[in-house]
Amino acid sequence: MSQKDKFNLTLQGLASSGRQWDEAVPLALLADVSFGDLNVKSPLFSDMLWKGSLKSEAGQFVLAGAWQMDVPRRCGRCNVEFALAMQADVHVIYELGKARDLAEEEELNAEDCEQEVLASPGELDMLNVLREQFWLAWQPMVVCSEDCKGLCLQCGVDLNHDECDCHGQVKENSFAALKDFKFDA
Ligand SMILES: [Zn+2]
Ligand SMILES: [Zn+2]
Repeated sequence: MSQKDKFNLTLQGLASSGRQWDEAVPLALLADVSFGDLNVKSPLFSDMLWKGSLKSEAGQFVLAGAWQMDVPRRCGRCNVEFALAMQADVHVIYELGKARDLAEEEELNAEDCEQEVLASPGELDMLNVLREQFWLAWQPMVVCSEDCKGLCLQCGVDLNHDECDCHGQVKENSFAALKDFKFDA
């Protein structure tokens, strides 16, 4: 089966047994213009592991599964580049039909489960679907570790590896300031 056939299908043509995926989606296939700001050549990037299924149930098509992928990111506290292990569950319900009007669409989006109505024959490009899921899970600010101490806001030293005296000085300064403070009492 070619890569294209593996990821392109129509809801109408879905076999009664549905479709299953359990494979590594190559980064090179996944990365498109939307990945433009990411360093896809970084060794910290991995392929996407995607395990899921698409099944026909009572006139609807249920896509369910999970993916995981290592992505190079910069820590929002210490600025170090690290491989962030991203992962998320996927649960989308597709229906064949006419596109609904906007108000109804918004109502559907407000629900927990993603629902989409596709015009017949319901063309589905799983690479696009996975890209969408990837960006849905994207967090603008990430940290290399919950314990990351970050950079000193005053001298810029990485407090994970070094110490600085800025904190001591801040304390001294504030006490010094208190000395000159005139209390009314
Ligand atoms: Zn960090
Ligand atoms: Zn400092």
